[in-house]
Amino acid sequence: MATGFVWHELYMWHNTWNWAQVFPPSLTVQPGEHAENPETKRRLRNLIEVSGLLDHLTQIKPRHATEDELARFHGRAHIERIKTLSAENGGDASALTPFGRGSFEIAQLAAGGVMAAFDAVIEGRVKNAYALVRPPGHHATADVGMGFCLFGNAVIAIMRAQLVHKVGRIATVDWDVHHGNGTQSAFYGRNDVLTISLHQDNLFPAQSGGLAETGEGKGAGFNLNIPLPPGSGDGAYVAAFEQVVIPALTRFKPELIVVPSGFDASGVDPLGRMMVTSEGYRAMTRMLMKAAADLCGGRLVMSHEGGYSQTYVPYCGLAVLEEMTGIKTHVTDPWAPLMANWGGQALQPHQQAVIAAAAQLVKSIT
Ligand code: ZN
Repeated sequence: MATGFVWHELYMWHNTWNWAQVFPPSLTVQPGEHAENPETKRRLRNLIEVSGLLDHLTQIKPRHATEDELARFHGRAHIERIKTLSAENGGDASALTPFGRGSFEIAQLAAGGVMAAFDAVIEGRVKNAYALVRPPGHHATADVGMGFCLFGNAVIAIMRAQLVHKVGRIATVDWDVHHGNGTQSAFYGRNDVLTISLHQDNLFPAQSGGLAETGEGKGAGFNLNIPLPPGSGDGAYVAAFEQVVIPALTRFKPELIVVPSGFDASGVDPLGRMMVTSEGYRAMTRMLMKAAADLCGGRLVMSHEGGYSQTYVPYCGLAVLEEMTGIKTHVTDPWAPLMANWGGQALQPHQQAVIAAAAQLVKSIT
């Protein structure tokens, strides 16, 4: 069976205006390009085509999430506000999250794209799937969009899979460099969704994603944060997978694994200060695929989140898709020779201390 791939040109038409990275232009900030602009995703899609891998992927057609589907997670006031502003001239979903005319419908198509990927995997039409959607989703909470996210794409797809497909236990492994606060908030009191986030310690949102946030009520123990120190590279991420992520998944026994996938933990990302390489993403994908094969028939869905290096995101994404498909293309990572010389890629003691603390939390997963 092939790997499914979700893409739609309209994802690239979600307008984040002429902000200067994360600042609105003003009399003291020169207009520029918003950090979350189409280019990294478009270049990833283009490299997948140029590499020849696209020919081996099963295209999955996205659909629009309905307002009722969005409302399983989001408050009606939030949905209505985005819809109204989108029908006019756009607005700001709150912190750092401008959007233009039509972004409501495009965000519906993003959430619907992730749901379509879930359907294809759950129904056995593909072995796994990557949804290259935009806008991203993992920061959006029930009542507000934030961090470039309007609606919680993965959350909405998980809620639907449990309701419609009767999938029981679902685990998320968020490797975006920022904390997956929206996903955490959605399932904080639930023990049928294990939420794991690896991220740069206290990067975004502020004061979010600490080790002490482990869930509440029935969900106590079912939220796992791994707040890695800035400068963490492939060594730290692979160690975190070996010592925390894979043992947690093994204890939890998910029926489906979902990856909110951001490539902003890369060594050249403008918004993060980590050092992961394309080979690091490849290694993490390989470990997740092994876990998925052992635990849930290989069922793995990735939902695209952040990643802001225009030249590097495509190679990180291609490495992930090569692993998911099992097909190695002729493309080599042009950054590899440069990054191979960087110090600090190996696991450092202060990184291991955080990983060891997170590993202590795994035993509360039952
Ligand atoms: Zn991010």
